[in-house]
Amino acid sequence: MPVNRGVLQRYRNLLPITDATPIISLGEGSTPLVRSRHIGKFIGCEDLYFKLEGCNPTGSFKDRGMVVAVAKAMEARSNTIVCASTGNTSASAAAYGAYCGLKTVVLVPRGAIASGKLAQAIAYGAKILVVNGNFDRALELVRQLSNSHPITLVNSVNPHRLQGQKTAAFEVVDALGDAPDYLFIPVGNAGNISAYWMGFTQFFQMERTSRRPKMMGFQAEGAAPIVLGHPVENPKTIASAIRIGNPASWKLALAARDESGGRIDAVSDDEILAAYELMAGKEGVFCEPASAASVAGLLKSAACGLDLRGKSAVCVITGTGLKEPELAAQHSSALPVEIDATLGTVERALELAAVGR
Ligand SMILES: *Cc1c(COP(=O)(O)O)cnc(C)c1O
Repeated sequence: MPVNRGVLQRYRNLLPITDATPIISLGEGSTPLVRSRHIGKFIGCEDLYFKLEGCNPTGSFKDRGMVVAVAKAMEARSNTIVCASTGNTSASAAAYGAYCGLKTVVLVPRGAIASGKLAQAIAYGAKILVVNGNFDRALELVRQLSNSHPITLVNSVNPHRLQGQKTAAFEVVDALGDAPDYLFIPVGNAGNISAYWMGFTQFFQMERTSRRPKMMGFQAEGAAPIVLGHPVENPKTIASAIRIGNPASWKLALAARDESGGRIDAVSDDEILAAYELMAGKEGVFCEPASAASVAGLLKSAACGLDLRGKSAVCVITGTGLKEPELAAQHSSALPVEIDATLGTVERALELAAVGR
């Protein structure tokens, strides 16, 4: 196995890199594309894959975009980066900021981010401001801040973020030999669906792929501005990473949907949680609830009559479930059983007969 030198190195010629851009990496990208063993059979799609973006250095796809945004910030001689975040962006910014010696400021909505994500920002030494307001308000604040101070905004409104994130589409094509028929992906601020579309389109234009997938985006029902056609004032969903009422890349996401002949639809929190349990319990992939929205969307589409027989599909599993362990404890049928430390109690707990004693 060669060393993972990161997306700047691997896709150097396809990214906005100059001789003055520092080639930095925490080992982001080159994530596994794993074939489904259960869900694919269940819905009649033999060619179903999961792109495991939780395997990135800070546990989400945000690292792909952050490495480019931070390298470009350094190229521009910026010494401070700032972002608003539902959690994963702040974890990623704080990691790359620490690695590159930049000051990192993160604004997070109060009480609305997973404990593990906050722990990461703390561990990496970011300046953390907890805002009495939601993500959309925090994003407004950092946009204003970066407009009036020499501070680089590293939210996905920074175009370098999407440039980095498009490399996931390159990897899917490189792994499968062509683009899949369908790409299922959660939609929050709508940067990632837009980035994948950019990546597939770029490879299509370069004739590295014969086709582009239909882009199937999924918002949570209580945070579905694109589906509703208007911003949502108080977005609500268990999936905090997509709890966004006014997506920054709204127009780009609509273009991705329409140009690809895909859909952007909503899934309920119950559907998200069912997919979250199914992914861990049947596929061995412990993802975060926002990531499970792509799988929930796949299951819903299949139940509504989308025929995936003979088609290939990729679900983007955007982040790891390890950042919110409390949630798994609340939503699992396999809860721990406490026993006395004797073989007999172990056997009784496992409903095994005691043999030969
Ligand atoms: C950021 C994030 C999303 C949403 O991506 P957008 O680009 O905001 O649409 C989904 N899942 C996870 C785990 C995320 O961190």
